[in-house]
Amino acid sequence: MESFLDTDITYLKGVGPKRAELLKKESGIFTFRDLLYYFPFKYIDRSQFHKISEVNATNAYLQLKGKITSFRTEGTKYKKRLTAKFSDGTGDIELVWFQGVNWAVKNYTIGAEYIVFGKPVVFNRQLSIAHPDIEPAGRFNETDRSAFVPQYTTTEKMKAGYLNSKALQLLTQTMLALPQAKIDETLPQWLVAKHNLLSLDRALKIIHFPNNTSELRLAEYRIKFEELFYIQLGILRLKTGRDKTVKGFVFSKVGYSFNTFYNKNLPFELTSAQKRVVKEIRHDLGSGKQMNRLLQGDVGSGKTLVALMSMLLALDNGFQACLMAPTEILARQHFNTIERMLDGLGVNVMLLTGSTRKKERETLHAELRSGRLHLLIGTHALIEDPVVFYNLGLVIIDEQHRFGVAQRAKLWQKNLHPPHVLVMTATPIPRTLAMTLYGDLDVSVIDELPPGRKPIQTFHYRESKRLGMIGFLRKQIDMGQQVYIVYPLIKESEKLDLQNLEAGFNGMVQMFPPPSYNVICIHGRMKADEKELAMQAFKNAKAHILMATTVIEVGVDVPNATVMVIESAERFGLSQLHQLRGRVGRGEGQSWCILMSSDKLTHEARKRLETMTATNDGFAIAEADLKLRGPGDIEGTQQSGIPFDLKMANLARDGQLLQYVRTVAQEILDDDNMLESEENQILKNQLQKLKSSPTDWSSIS
Ligand code: ADP
Ligand code: MG
Repeated sequence: MESFLDTDITYLKGVGPKRAELLKKESGIFTFRDLLYYFPFKYIDRSQFHKISEVNATNAYLQLKGKITSFRTEGTKYKKRLTAKFSDGTGDIELVWFQGVNWAVKNYTIGAEYIVFGKPVVFNRQLSIAHPDIEPAGRFNETDRSAFVPQYTTTEKMKAGYLNSKALQLLTQTMLALPQAKIDETLPQWLVAKHNLLSLDRALKIIHFPNNTSELRLAEYRIKFEELFYIQLGILRLKTGRDKTVKGFVFSKVGYSFNTFYNKNLPFELTSAQKRVVKEIRHDLGSGKQMNRLLQGDVGSGKTLVALMSMLLALDNGFQACLMAPTEILARQHFNTIERMLDGLGVNVMLLTGSTRKKERETLHAELRSGRLHLLIGTHALIEDPVVFYNLGLVIIDEQHRFGVAQRAKLWQKNLHPPHVLVMTATPIPRTLAMTLYGDLDVSVIDELPPGRKPIQTFHYRESKRLGMIGFLRKQIDMGQQVYIVYPLIKESEKLDLQNLEAGFNGMVQMFPPPSYNVICIHGRMKADEKELAMQAFKNAKAHILMATTVIEVGVDVPNATVMVIESAERFGLSQLHQLRGRVGRGEGQSWCILMSSDKLTHEARKRLETMTATNDGFAIAEADLKLRGPGDIEGTQQSGIPFDLKMANLARDGQLLQYVRTVAQEILDDDNMLESEENQILKNQLQKLKSSPTDWSSIS
């Protein structure tokens, strides 16, 4: 069997070297298996007939029943064109052939009834169908051929090589009709039986040659089930294996630092969600297992505090801890907050970023190696090689979706024995995606904002209403509030970014002139300490307006800033918009988010902005995002190494099935965690195969 499906597509009857080349280049079909898994993107219902009088050129493919009333041949001997008039009593339409003219004239009879299928176009003000699918009406009715005609994606080049949708279906048919054709089951027999699945063999045949919708649904279900099931089985086995083999440091004590901080330094009561999460983390850290936990919490939900308390637990048990943030500004902010919060506790904290001076860096390295430095906070500079810990017990990664898998893995190796790992993210991820992206992590959720926060109000202004926005800002600023104005970052053109930002800045300074007003600006070309200075001025309320590209996208915390203006909001993705909006609404007053966009918007952009004005719920936004864009484009999926180009399943639509197969996979592992039993060998083998494909489960941390 192996050899059959692995056969080079060149050897299929009707293919040959030329078409094989096209199949490989244009659609990635190299083997029989590839062809078999080249699924139709849709099916056309051929049980319906259209009336010609109602046809127009906006119709997609349609089906007509009628008679040819006349033929007309034009052109030269070498470049002939055949036109047939086709009538169904309600009207007529032209059928046109540029190839096979002689054959068509000979084979189609005037006055006989035919079924015609094709896409109508208008040519010379006449409706016509070029190269229609055409067959005698009687034969169609008598045969039990499918009313559902699969449509396969083909390119212009393929069509020119006679590889249209129908040809692809025929090739599949030819392949499956071969005497040696055999499709082996890829799921254990008991699993297929238990869940009432179609066999793989049958499911694949139905996908290409369906008879009706109900069997098609069953076939699709079988294929989706398998796809999602193996992803979950892979992730869960990784987790099970790790839980069993990797021992974790035991942090059994809650000691001086934690207690003193909690009782003396904590400036407010923890929310009950924070309390619950701290408890979950404490449990992990004391369990003897190595923690791999994801902390999800919407922007402003107070994750930093949870991170800090976890680090204090490490410290109380004689370990060092580190916190890695994706930007310098954010790392510095964490450092300042944490240093302030730990005031008087005698904890040594230092900051390491790309701009830490050499001398300071050397001291830091030495302190770290000796163990005198307890907490290290920084950017990805933390994973640079010279950074050696005395005994690192806990690693925390903030805004983890910003880091690649490889970067995370490096921190893991900063101790001979893997430290506990807590990754935090404010990017709300739909549950389905989380189960896949972070399916091997335990998940904690902060689903509650600190008390007293008012929901942010969001408005959408088009460019032509800019003056209205300025008026609103003036009112807010005069009431003592501060404003962020964010410009999109254009990856390809840092120069253009800067120009946009500068133009916007000059405009704003005119509207809000000194000395009454102070407008400042942060951008990527500034040095770290310049940025820091500007940030501080804004934090200390010395500036009314802070303008920036997305450098402040994540994490910045200035409670007195209550207005967020996002310029060219249509250029941002939903999750980014939500992140940016989360920069306000951190104090007790009412906060506002204003989305500025051009007057003309694409349908998708309008949907995004509507979603933003309609809800503040990060998870609802994430779901909308997944539906609008599909999982492949959502931040974090690319780095994950998980193949999101699923052939049949769809994470936006198949959430329930995903949940279901996850429990199925978990039950199997509960009984047989290394998949040792005879009946599970097929699972083990399939996983092995998937592993040797580009998906490498072992690289997901
Ligand atoms: P995020 O989850 O987005 O990282 P932060 O940790 O930056 O959120 O916290 C947002 C703001 O809420 C900070 O100003 C922080 O001091 C404050 N905060 C955190 N927890 C509480 C709490 N339990 N009560 C009141 N304010 C809190
Ligand atoms: Mg944060």
